[in-house]
Amino acid sequence: MWYDYRFRAYPNRTGITAEAERHIDIHRQAYNHTRYEYNTLDTDEDNIGSAYQHQKRLTEWKDEWPVFKEVHSKALQKTVERFYNNLSSLSDKKEQGYKVGELQWKSPREYQSMTYSQSGFELKNTSGQTATLWLSKIGDIPIRYHRSLPDNADIKEVTLKKETTGEWYVTFGLEVEDTALPEKPDVDDLDVEDCVGVDLGIQNYIYTSDGDSVDWLDLSDEYDRLRREQRSLSRKEHGSNNWANQRREVAKGKRRIKRKVEDFQHKLSMWLVRTYDAVFVEDLDASGMLQQRGNARNKQDAAWRGFIEMLEYKGDLYGTHVVQVDPAGTTKECAECGVKTEKPLWVREHSCPSCGFKVDRDANASYNVLSRGLEQLGKGHAKVTPVETATAVETDGGRSSSVPASRVIETGSLGA
Ligand SMILES: [Zn+2]
Repeated sequence: MWYDYRFRAYPNRTGITAEAERHIDIHRQAYNHTRYEYNTLDTDEDNIGSAYQHQKRLTEWKDEWPVFKEVHSKALQKTVERFYNNLSSLSDKKEQGYKVGELQWKSPREYQSMTYSQSGFELKNTSGQTATLWLSKIGDIPIRYHRSLPDNADIKEVTLKKETTGEWYVTFGLEVEDTALPEKPDVDDLDVEDCVGVDLGIQNYIYTSDGDSVDWLDLSDEYDRLRREQRSLSRKEHGSNNWANQRREVAKGKRRIKRKVEDFQHKLSMWLVRTYDAVFVEDLDASGMLQQRGNARNKQDAAWRGFIEMLEYKGDLYGTHVVQVDPAGTTKECAECGVKTEKPLWVREHSCPSCGFKVDRDANASYNVLSRGLEQLGKGHAKVTPVETATAVETDGGRSSSVPASRVIETGSLGA
């Protein structure tokens, strides 16, 4: 399986920022030249038309323009490949009915990265929070190594990128052998106690069938600040220096929010897959979800989707089943007897008119997610007995096991 791991990079600390920029610009010229040749040369006669064929022309290029000898040769091949990859995603879009033009010439502002493939790089000194990436023909680049690469991961590619904010990042493309991944527990041996249903709340939190609730991140300060920066940008003269500086501030604000959300999702998903053998969540793409959730949900749904994706790949990495279940009616249905009751958003308690089962609204939904997940995994109609946990939730006021998001962020191990 393929994974991307991204880290902040600091080429300025070793004084090689200018050199890295120079390399990226040579790659940009190579990209543009690939495009030029693709558009002007004869496919059959000049033997182009695929990355593999086109790469054979690189020897000729290097003879004619020695500058192409100055960058790593495998990386140069990768740049030719990038053009052909862009070409094929363009034609994919065309097939899906999008109106597409042709691939454009890239200005320096539009071309900000290069990729080393298979050789010419080494990850060193990976102890603690920092590490060093060595790139052939460029040198050592310190990185903020805030999480380790998985064991048995093979680094296939390294992409060095300068963001519009001026910040640098490296992304490692990792191949993890499927056989190296831990096996997921056999469904027959799964203990219901080691499974969890997670309700993705409308009101900014998750609620688990074990009675844990975790607040979603409070990003209101970050959003306020971003809006201020955006307002300030709109008052600047388009194209002026001030405008350009302010645009960087806006980009920084957006990046800050994105990083916080990703960090939070990383820790929350880690906690779930490490604590449980099976994690069940609602399938947000299932039909019916839209009507159920109303309109004020776009940003949050995008975040949930990112969270579920992360949960799934961590499940593979740590040997945990992650299953998405049909979300229809998880809130209305009684987890005890199955009778459906309409419940407006402001009704916080589930109180079943049929069997008398009383529990927090979201707890009820999480039990339903749990039993649907078990069923989908093939545990048949394993009876979930919500009553024990429900009692605990009831007696101490329903939210006592609430865990603030900040704690997840700081420790990454809530519940520990
Ligand atoms: Zn009931």
